Amino acid sequence: MTTLCYLGLGANIDNPVQQLLTAVTTLAALPGIQLEQVSSLYGSKPVGPQDQPDYVNAVACIRTCLAPLALLDNLQQLERDQGRVKLRHWGERCIDVDILLYGDEVISSERLTVPHSQMALRSFVLLPLMEIAPALNMPDGRPLSAWATKVLADIQSGKEAPLVPLLPPPVI
Ligand code: AMP
Repeated sequence: MTTLCYLGLGANIDNPVQQLLTAVTTLAALPGIQLEQVSSLYGSKPVGPQDQPDYVNAVACIRTCLAPLALLDNLQQLERDQGRVKLRHWGERCIDVDILLYGDEVISSERLTVPHSQMALRSFVLLPLMEIAPALNMPDGRPLSAWATKVLADIQSGKEAPLVPLLPPPVI
């Protein structure tokens, strides 16, 4: 049995576009994971410390037979293999891969919160997700478009910077 999952990818140092493409290539080759779809790459302003470079973000859809914590282990290994070092909270990173959604499961454990605790607030997650899964229903039963209403309004009103489309989806 496999589960459809959505992952959020981000990077803002050490050639972030290349870092995202490397992570996508690694994901596609990981045992137990089938890469289904990747969004376009977008530029976004940093959340947290402002004295750091802008981010490059994307969302990937995978199918996996891995249990949630085994998937997290694999993603954290991918981050370590790409040289990720924790410098400061919400600070610069050469790669970040988060589990946004794991099927329609709701998980709240020491290591894992799914849906990802910040995703409802983040345009760089919700908008790439809308690009690849516009009809997605969230685990709370509401459509993704409803989750995105606030960030879209904040972009419209100028409260939040718009995402910058950088590159079309990588060929997988
Ligand atoms: P980050 O700095 O975003 O890579 O966060 C890493 C920490 O968040 C790790 O300690 C994870 O165990 C924890 N975490 C909790 N929920 C998630 C999630 N949905 N995806 C990835 N990491 C998560």
